[in-house]
Amino acid sequence: METQRLNGNYNSDIVIAGTILRQGGLVAIPTETVYGLAGDATNEAAVQKIFLSKGRPQDNPLIVHISSYEQLNQLTSELSIKAKQLADAFWPGPLTMILPKSKLISDRVSAGLSTVALRFPSHSVAIEIIKSAGVPLAAPSANISGSPSPTTAAHVLHDLDGKIDAVVDGGACTIGLESTVVNLTTEIPTLLRPGHVTLEQLKSVLGDVNVVDAVLHQSDSNAPVFSPGMKYKHYAPKAKMVLLEGSYKAFQTYVNAHAGEGVAALCYTGEEKGLHVPVITYGAQYCQEEQARVLFGALRKLDEMNCQVIYARCPNANGVGLAIYNRMIRAAGFEVRTLD
Ligand code: AMP
Ligand code: MG
Repeated sequence: METQRLNGNYNSDIVIAGTILRQGGLVAIPTETVYGLAGDATNEAAVQKIFLSKGRPQDNPLIVHISSYEQLNQLTSELSIKAKQLADAFWPGPLTMILPKSKLISDRVSAGLSTVALRFPSHSVAIEIIKSAGVPLAAPSANISGSPSPTTAAHVLHDLDGKIDAVVDGGACTIGLESTVVNLTTEIPTLLRPGHVTLEQLKSVLGDVNVVDAVLHQSDSNAPVFSPGMKYKHYAPKAKMVLLEGSYKAFQTYVNAHAGEGVAALCYTGEEKGLHVPVITYGAQYCQEEQARVLFGALRKLDEMNCQVIYARCPNANGVGLAIYNRMIRAAGFEVRTLD
């Protein structure tokens, strides 16, 4: 199939995207977090196509994207006070809530769970497309399962050109990491995936919030799985990646001592000069927003370099950094070495 290139600035293209979606087709759409691969969440065939075109395991449920509070009421069987408070505080925005599902959500979307993941995104093009489609949109990240989430239309086409009906170009995503996912069906709310809405922000609204172990540690295969996505390797570069924790001085010494054929480094912007290996940067050390925005693009560039080992600067895990750290330890297969 030929993948149509649409432009989010044109109203006529938004209408085309909405029509394709209403007819059961798949359209990659820009959101403030990453590009999503959207299909009509109420159409079983469309949902099945999402799993097939991404190569996504069937037991990994999808996030459903909405553009009104009316849709929130239709898709959940029970709306708690905490859910309303979180929606008031962070919607529209980069937050996904796990809530009890209504009959409109099929087992295919929720992977057999009794809950549904819902998000009201803030990106104006995403909102216009959901409205134009007139249906809630199931939309996982628009990449082949296992590759970094796409933050530009070019990333989407790299992975899915010829496999989906269209991509709507809305420019580079401003946040760059997937949404924060919080489960509100547990007695104490549980953070399942860190994102731009931080743990501290969630606590300021909800009080107590638990953090699922898999956010920071490799899941024990015998432990209960709270979010099926957690048991899958998020992203593994072709090369072996190792996070090096410590000062820049210690990083530089370590990398240069290990320099050689097939070795590359992933470091903060401005640190390139002292390193004797090919380098990709992921933003300024003290600008977590920038690190979040550019990280996935940097991981894609590293894959194109065909190296065998990547030594990466370990980010701070505070605030938004928890999300950056979470994605990077997964990319590194949880291999962190402490220097100094
Ligand atoms: P992605 O679509 O790639 O952004 O991933 C969505 C994430 O949300 C995955 O980690 C899913 O496992 C998780 N998720 C979606 N629906 C549910 C649900 N009903 N309960 C728990 N986790 C969910
Ligand atoms: Mg994904």
